[in-house]
Amino acid sequence: MPAKPSLSPTNDPWLLTPGPLTTSPTVKQAMLHDLGSRDHGFIAVNRRMRERLVGIINGQGSHVAVPLQGSGTFVVEAMIATFLPASGKLLVLVNGAYGRRMIKMCEVAGHDHAALEWAEDQPVDPARVEAALAADPTISHVAVVHCETTSGVLNPVKAVAEAVQRQGRRLLVDAMSAFGALALDAREVPFDALVASSNKCLEGVPGIGFCLARQAALEETKGNCPVLSFDLYDQWTSMEANGQWRFTPPTHAILAFDQALAEYEAEGGQPGRGGRYADNCRVLVEGMRALGFETLLPDRLQAPIIVTFLMPVDPKFHFQTFYDRLRERGFVIYPGKLTVADTFRIGCIGRLGRPEMEGALAAIRDVLGELGVTRCAPRAAA
Ligand SMILES: *Cc1c(COP(=O)(O)O)cnc(C)c1O
Repeated sequence: MPAKPSLSPTNDPWLLTPGPLTTSPTVKQAMLHDLGSRDHGFIAVNRRMRERLVGIINGQGSHVAVPLQGSGTFVVEAMIATFLPASGKLLVLVNGAYGRRMIKMCEVAGHDHAALEWAEDQPVDPARVEAALAADPTISHVAVVHCETTSGVLNPVKAVAEAVQRQGRRLLVDAMSAFGALALDAREVPFDALVASSNKCLEGVPGIGFCLARQAALEETKGNCPVLSFDLYDQWTSMEANGQWRFTPPTHAILAFDQALAEYEAEGGQPGRGGRYADNCRVLVEGMRALGFETLLPDRLQAPIIVTFLMPVDPKFHFQTFYDRLRERGFVIYPGKLTVADTFRIGCIGRLGRPEMEGALAAIRDVLGELGVTRCAPRAAA
């Protein structure tokens, strides 16, 4: 038995998952206040949050931030509902579960849509997108996922955005698991709307989604959204009018987010945060390969967000036991979500650094020894 589990400063296990994630003690402490939604200090926090989010994409003067209560999925759905007019048609680029979820949203809402699909271990191909747009002039919008968290594959958002622009259509981006860690500059990547949430690479607590919209595009969306609470145009105009959220704001999550954004800036913004995650990813992948594990993706397709490993061939490797024993040692990993191969995932994001990644590797080595697992190479070539 392990002498003592490795725990975070608040005695919680480290979360090596796609979210919710480990947050800093100071982010958690920031929530120890009750503020009224009309309090002018709270209104100032909201203004600062929105300005900082726009600053992350260098969108000052051209783009605006519209926050929305809920998990990330809520704001993806709000983006589609707000930006796609009743006469519009959405082309969804699918190479994992989050692309498939946007198709589901279109089906539920009855939006006209089409899909282009790739295998889950392949990035989307901008040339195929451009050809599909040229062939179907009724497509008005394209939706792409920046890092498809299902596998961890990085999609070429800039090249997709350029193809969409050349064809005179509009782009919607689900940047949930990449935002803040991977560079995306609104001056270089043309899009109408991009969504992400408080609890992934920005290291806040769950509860807030946000949309970064090109203001001129958002201004055209009045009356598009068929439901009140997901209407980002309405949320934006009312927030501009009085600085307040339309409905009860997640005040504690917003205070935590304000602190998380200050810590993000202190770490050096995107280069600093992305650099730490890239280092986490390198330590993890090198350590796992040294143990004999194989990654699903070649390094050139791997985003430094979450890594998918193929299940080992050794019959003594039983994932649930492996997971439980790691949890006992203070590390939470994640099951796979792929349809193409039997896998599990380990995240690189959240308030984790080299000591935690090395701690996780030591725990993995221990557990493999306990289980008597000797062959970590995958069961079959994927
Ligand atoms: C996490 C995530 C979402 C949203 O998930 P929620 O569980 O609703 O917060 C959407 N898209 C991607 C790519 C994600 O990684």
